[in-house]
Amino acid sequence: MAKKITVFFIILSAFITIAATIGFAVIKQNNQQQLLGLQRQLASMSESLQQQQDELIQQQQQLEQAQQNYESEKQRADRLQSDIDTLREKNADKKICFLTFDDGPSKNTPKILDILQRYNIKATFFVIGRGETKYMKNIVDAGHAIGLHSYTHDFSQIYQNETAYFEDLQKLSDLVREKTGVTTTLLRFPGGSSNIASKKYCSGIMTTLAKSVEQKGYTYFDWNCDSHDADSTTVPASEIINGIKREAGPKHLTVLMHDAGTKTSTVEALPAVIEYLQQQGYSFQKLNKIVKPYHHRINN
Ligand SMILES: [Zn+2]
Repeated sequence: MAKKITVFFIILSAFITIAATIGFAVIKQNNQQQLLGLQRQLASMSESLQQQQDELIQQQQQLEQAQQNYESEKQRADRLQSDIDTLREKNADKKICFLTFDDGPSKNTPKILDILQRYNIKATFFVIGRGETKYMKNIVDAGHAIGLHSYTHDFSQIYQNETAYFEDLQKLSDLVREKTGVTTTLLRFPGGSSNIASKKYCSGIMTTLAKSVEQKGYTYFDWNCDSHDADSTTVPASEIINGIKREAGPKHLTVLMHDAGTKTSTVEALPAVIEYLQQQGYSFQKLNKIVKPYHHRINN
């Protein structure tokens, strides 16, 4: 009996040993698989982190480059502004006259160009979209400045809102480029920036436009010497000359005249106007982006 019991315990202990060995082996294998899975996850996380880091480094390099470019462009802009200021200071004490002709081109344009050539003078033409647009090229070819006035010159259309104004302006800009090859950013508002007629179509429109044209890179010019040639359809030449004499005086004189077809007396008065201003010590220049523009007080 005792022998049987002993054999039984031997078999039982052998069985327990085998079962335990198998059990441990299974647990060990499971743990290893989990470990491998974790290792794979870690490896993939580390790879994605590395990628993000690389992207960040690249972005940082791009940012540094952009900052360098900005600094150098800013230095260039500052130098340019300082050159402009120096030039303006140099010109501040000189008597300079800017003759400007609005509302052309017309049949009078070639006559005006002939007179300017005779006196070897450069002037500025703020053109519109109708009339003898073929003469735009003659203006540019003769070395004068061309500026934008308005395609339609219709206050009820252009001054109803900002969008309408810029649509009209773009149409004229395209026409000038097509006729002359020049893209101009010189500008004169119909009626000047001080006009109050625009109030009828949109309150505050001139305040808005004066800001937005400059934001878009245009420079607008008003005048400080009115020839009064637009006071009626055809003003006698003597009155135009007297008007100039009354208002000429400021060192920098921007003279408003008109190049519309009806303004035959402007052509007639022009030689006397030029000679009078020359006697007063003025030299003549065309307008450009460096000239400090004369601006009216805005009333709408
Ligand atoms: Zn006009």
